[in-house]
Amino acid sequence: MICDYLDDTVLRWPDTLAILDSDGRRWTYSDLQTAVTMAAKLLTENGVTRGDRVLIVAENCAETVAFLFASIRAGAWAVPVNARQTPSEIARILDHATPRAVVLTVSISSDAAKHAENLQAEPQEGAFGKIAIATPYSSAPDPDHDVAVMLYTTGTTGQPKGVMLTHGNLRFGGHASATIRGITKGDVVYGVLPMTHVFGLASMVMASVYAGATIQLDPRFSAEKLYKALRSGVTILPAVPQMHALLMQYTQENNLGALVGSGLRYVSSGAAPLDPIWKKKAEAFYGIALQNGYGMTETTAGVATTCNAMGSPDTSVGQPLAGVDVRIDQTIEGGGDGLGEVLTRGPHIMRGYYKNPDETARVLDAHGWLRTGDLGKLDDQGRLHILGRSKELIIRGGFNVYPPEVEAALNDHPGVVQSAVIGRTLADGDEQVLAFVQCNVADALIAETLKAFVAGKLAPYKRPSQIIIAKSLPAAPTGKILKHKLLEHFAKDLC
Ligand code: ATP
Ligand code: MG
Repeated sequence: MICDYLDDTVLRWPDTLAILDSDGRRWTYSDLQTAVTMAAKLLTENGVTRGDRVLIVAENCAETVAFLFASIRAGAWAVPVNARQTPSEIARILDHATPRAVVLTVSISSDAAKHAENLQAEPQEGAFGKIAIATPYSSAPDPDHDVAVMLYTTGTTGQPKGVMLTHGNLRFGGHASATIRGITKGDVVYGVLPMTHVFGLASMVMASVYAGATIQLDPRFSAEKLYKALRSGVTILPAVPQMHALLMQYTQENNLGALVGSGLRYVSSGAAPLDPIWKKKAEAFYGIALQNGYGMTETTAGVATTCNAMGSPDTSVGQPLAGVDVRIDQTIEGGGDGLGEVLTRGPHIMRGYYKNPDETARVLDAHGWLRTGDLGKLDDQGRLHILGRSKELIIRGGFNVYPPEVEAALNDHPGVVQSAVIGRTLADGDEQVLAFVQCNVADALIAETLKAFVAGKLAPYKRPSQIIIAKSLPAAPTGKILKHKLLEHFAKDLC
């Protein structure tokens, strides 16, 4: 049981601070345990039984942590989803998950409050804080008692899929994340990654609870809040690449200078490609190495460890964790020369996609190997290098173009905050390279400047045919750019 992580920590360190909420609330591990017990009681009173799903429509707050553990303790699957999703996205998830109960973190999130109104949820207050609860479906227990949570994928490439993760998956993910980072009691982990995403759930919450660390919660990313937190005691920062970029932009604009010398001792980057130039800039800024970790919802976050040396310009995401196998299938289109689709198996692999046996069978074979859909290669030291998604590989005039490489070239320009590169298939079947760029300069000619800038870095076939300048790019709550929305979103700007 993943709840053992909490029980063990409560026994060892009941008075250690577990949660520092954004509203100032402070819960020790003993307080958290009381909150979980009360929350589990509330769920049971509302008819939740073993094998039910409990949907937690949430932003990061103490209640989210309490109901995550409480759902599991009540024998149900915790299904945390981000409250910032639209009513129709939530309706689709409700339809898919058919939860016995829906818990909404109304105290912290106005979006959750709106969904609560739609669902006619009842307010409840107790040791677990303030939530609203609705019971939309009658009990429909699933017989798979190994499953602890269901998490929806980001939806970068299409509709989010419901990934079933077991107690064993979470225990492995939490333990591995804590061990790699050397998280211990006394650490303060910045908690801005949504707990509704595997990176936030496994690497942030489960790792901290396992280690007895404090999670300083923040429901929404802001560079200003992050900067202040880093100046006041945060020791561990798990983040996505865009957060590092936005933080550096903020400090530059406000002449605040680098963070070298703060108490920060571990910064990680994951969930999306980290380009080597950003890595270098971020390391100079933080004064410590930036650890790039690779994983996906289906692998409970970490497939590989994070061991790039400080200043290392490579795109490595490190060696596989102990107990994890990784191999490369070079037979796919565009594969060869050591490059191919990354396959992995081990204790981190999901049980499957809920109610989607066909897709489960497509990605997971009888021997436990998962097809990640990512392109990669292993170097002679066994380190994994990710070159992007196989679906997003652009084949132009017979040559392979890897979007992260083009993005890295663009991001190297000081006027660029972030960029996203995709392919567009032309009438003759060839593919065009399109770049969408968020800039921090008001310059009507910036697209032309960038074209000339990347021409000095990229072979002609890799250069974007068009660079579209945007105020912002469509992103998931984690900050990941939703690439499948770009063409539709910027349709009027395309030539
Ligand atoms: P969907 O599956 O719904 O399209 P998604 O794949 O973005 O969305 P996640 O499970 O959140 O959903 O993300 C996993 C993916 O993120 C990986 O398959 C990989 O493409 C990318 N990724 C994660 N970490 C890294 C990393 N360190 N470097 C490069 N890519 C990464
Ligand atoms: Mg995916």
